[in-house]
Amino acid sequence: MKQIKRHRVYDLLKKDSGHLINKEVNVKGWVRTRRGSKHVAFIALNDGSIIHNIQVVIDVKSFDNDDLLKNITTGSCISVNGKLVESHGKGQAVEIQAFEIELYGTADPDVYPLQKKGHTLEFLREIAHLRPRTNTFGAIFRIRHALSFAIHKYFNENGFYYLHTPIITGSDAEGAGAMFRVTTLDMRNVPMTEEGRVDYTKDFFGKETNLTVSGQLEGELGALALSNIYTFGPTFRAENSNTSRHLSEFWMIEPEMAFYDIRDNMDLAESFLKYLIRYLLEHCDDDLAFLQKMYDNELVDRLRMVIDNTFERLTYTEAVEILEQSGQSFEFPVKWGVDLQSEHERYLVEKEFNKPVILTDYPREIKAFYMKMNDDGKTVRAMDVLFPKIGEIVGGSQREENYEKLHGRISEMKIEEEDVWWYLETRKFGTAPHSGFGLGFERLMLFVTGMGNIRDVIPFPRAPQNAEF
Ligand code: ATP
Ligand code: MN
Repeated sequence: MKQIKRHRVYDLLKKDSGHLINKEVNVKGWVRTRRGSKHVAFIALNDGSIIHNIQVVIDVKSFDNDDLLKNITTGSCISVNGKLVESHGKGQAVEIQAFEIELYGTADPDVYPLQKKGHTLEFLREIAHLRPRTNTFGAIFRIRHALSFAIHKYFNENGFYYLHTPIITGSDAEGAGAMFRVTTLDMRNVPMTEEGRVDYTKDFFGKETNLTVSGQLEGELGALALSNIYTFGPTFRAENSNTSRHLSEFWMIEPEMAFYDIRDNMDLAESFLKYLIRYLLEHCDDDLAFLQKMYDNELVDRLRMVIDNTFERLTYTEAVEILEQSGQSFEFPVKWGVDLQSEHERYLVEKEFNKPVILTDYPREIKAFYMKMNDDGKTVRAMDVLFPKIGEIVGGSQREENYEKLHGRISEMKIEEEDVWWYLETRKFGTAPHSGFGLGFERLMLFVTGMGNIRDVIPFPRAPQNAEF
């Protein structure tokens, strides 16, 4: 093959490629479809850089290699040298008139599973190794990338440091959910103590260890030195919840800020979420338009609803009154003290206020030990951000910075002091008011893509009975 500089399909279709018209270009990619006649073949070629395909036109008689042309079928991978020309066909501005093609890999039409279109999302989950090659998953994974980038960009621009908190943790005090054990003990010959317990002193770390459910406690250690930090990493929950909103392995963003009270915390969450959505509307318009057309015709309106409105702020107690007086029959009845379910959260957002809602001051019984107690002794300075279609998307709080009070809560909730002595010490040495929150990355992905199942917004989902790929 003649050596010609490779261009991404994105650059040929999207960027100003005018200066390349009538020039020789090279593209490489996977064949989406092939149609045409004995004399001319039209190939729709995609390289993942953009939702659209570039059309490659092959004048059959100018190629003397029948074997090669025969093997250019859906799913095969090719490199094309050709002339970029203005297209007279519908739906594209430019196309490539091929003069040289190299076949990298065939895809036998009798067995390649991604013929044409119309596969269900359930089927595509079973072929997660190939589904990135579909329009839908190409769009989702490009959006996932853009969203990750925007998260780092926002924090970098606002004076936050990216803190890497551990994935293997020695404490199970995070309290956010059931954990996966990390061990190198021989399962067929587990060392036991005299009292008949597993002897973890013989294990790799000399103590019981698990995969983290949250980076928050270590995040606080960072905030109490660097002022503003964030984490963005994988977290793990061994809950047997087979829902469309739960994964066993998911990514979480956890900013933690010294000198922020609950109000500063809410302001940050609101500004952050709006920034991310604005970024996607600016940078992923093609992919969003595709998802809107295929899956959710209110997608872009819903995204605009978030950036165009000031989030409604009210207390848990006020929310419970609204729900009690709503006349709705909820599956889970509401009264003061219960944890709100997604049906309640969605009622507030979608029926009562028609915009995102931030609830604050939850009963202490249903929230974690580290949240700052209010003067009423009954509620804590928690804040949950509720979104349409999703319900809770962010959970956060002002943290208890007083040593005595925090120590009291730890004893009350029977948390082992030896697990959290280091956390307590930050309240003994130079303690400071501080706040933070956790945003589930895949919950936000569900919201911005309009997809219905969380397994379709992460490349290789982990869920109960499911760790293939
Ligand atoms: P839920 O009640 O929906 O199970 P949670 O109250 O357990 O959520 P937190 O412990 O507050 O959630 O976790 C912080 C954020 O992480 C949540 O607001 C949510 O966005 C996300 N999240 C929690 N559990 C999961 C999960 N299993 N899969 C994906 N995201 C999750
Ligand atoms: Mn949960």
